[in-house]
Amino acid sequence: MNKINQEDRSLSLNYPKPDPYGSLSMPVYHALAYEFSTAEEMEDAFCGRTDEHTYSRVTNPTVQFYEERVKTITDAYGVTALNSGMAAISNTFLTLAWSGSNIVTSRHLFGNTYSFFVNTLKAFGVETRFCDVTDPADVADNLDENSCAVFVEVISNPQMEVADLKILSRVAHENNVPLIADTTIVPFTSFKAKDFGIDIDVISSTKYISGGGTSLGGLIIDYGKFDWGHSPKLSSLSEITESAFHFKLRKEIHRNMGAYMTPDVAFIQSLGLETLSVRYERHSSSCLELAKRLKTLTGVKSVNYTGLEDNIWHKVSQNQFGEYPGAMLTFDLESKDACFRFMNRLQIIHRATNLFDNKSLIIHPASTIYGTFTQEQRSDMGIKETTLRMSVGLESVDTLFSDIKQALEG
Ligand SMILES: *Cc1c(COP(=O)(O)O)cnc(C)c1O
Repeated sequence: MNKINQEDRSLSLNYPKPDPYGSLSMPVYHALAYEFSTAEEMEDAFCGRTDEHTYSRVTNPTVQFYEERVKTITDAYGVTALNSGMAAISNTFLTLAWSGSNIVTSRHLFGNTYSFFVNTLKAFGVETRFCDVTDPADVADNLDENSCAVFVEVISNPQMEVADLKILSRVAHENNVPLIADTTIVPFTSFKAKDFGIDIDVISSTKYISGGGTSLGGLIIDYGKFDWGHSPKLSSLSEITESAFHFKLRKEIHRNMGAYMTPDVAFIQSLGLETLSVRYERHSSSCLELAKRLKTLTGVKSVNYTGLEDNIWHKVSQNQFGEYPGAMLTFDLESKDACFRFMNRLQIIHRATNLFDNKSLIIHPASTIYGTFTQEQRSDMGIKETTLRMSVGLESVDTLFSDIKQALEG
């Protein structure tokens, strides 16, 4: 099934229990508990012999409908919707990791993911091994029988590092370890993670999918490809279910962590899904055009966007993401002062964190997202004082470019 058809299928998906009023969109079920006709039916549902809803921390019809739509678009085995991108990441690793296990990853990570690994998981005896994920030999050297995952961001935020995913998945799989990827930066309507050997996809749906910065959300997408018989933690389950990961996540971890998506958010993000590929086309083509124009400005020392032909990751990025690799770019001015002066003069572009709002956003990562990190951690992670990160919104490129020009010249 090709991309267009899958999205169309998602749009035409009817929710399974017809609404008595024939509502065309999915009703928002603000229901917490679900009533049963008999004690026997209740027993069956609670013991997992039927898949009726019991309690909305576990499943909810509106959230389930959203999960089904994502599953249709991504051709996944199982989708779990949570209440933030970080909930998706933490639930994934609580499912995979055990005390004494290790995660092999890059230093080039989103700030909270880095902190989750080196602070939160460390306290439970999980080691994080940093290596160069663009060097297969270095990845292989770090893997051993206690590795629970190779983890990578497909385009790291904000460093823009791009590993060759097919090579990375081959190295991981040769060592019987799953490849987990954060694909937030390029949405699944454009990038097919499954085709590149990614076993589990984690996404902050807060970003592109929510549409207009409306709501926090996270997705865990299990492509059902990995043989969990190789995992010391999940191998026994793999005898009773097709995906031990999905089973453990749904039957234990996500219920215990209590971070399931709420029905309002599922409704909003379900609408976001309907316009995702249209919005993304505009976001990403504007981003490439703006990156090209930024390079012509004196005062802009460098522009980092993997869609630019002279970017060091251009080739691998093009193979994986096509012409338009996301709608986030960074650029460098001569100093932190210059960055602050520039930001303060902007009139259209908003000084705010978040990515892929309909509005364009700008942030100085070193003093904000990484503001409480030590100087050494920042330099290890490739975070510079001179860098600004921009998320390109739906405004016209001309408007954005003239705002940037006036702020630089002022
Ligand atoms: C924003 C983001 C996250 C965290 O998502 P939240 O929804 O804010 O919890 C994780 N990874 C990447 C790449 C992000 O951009």
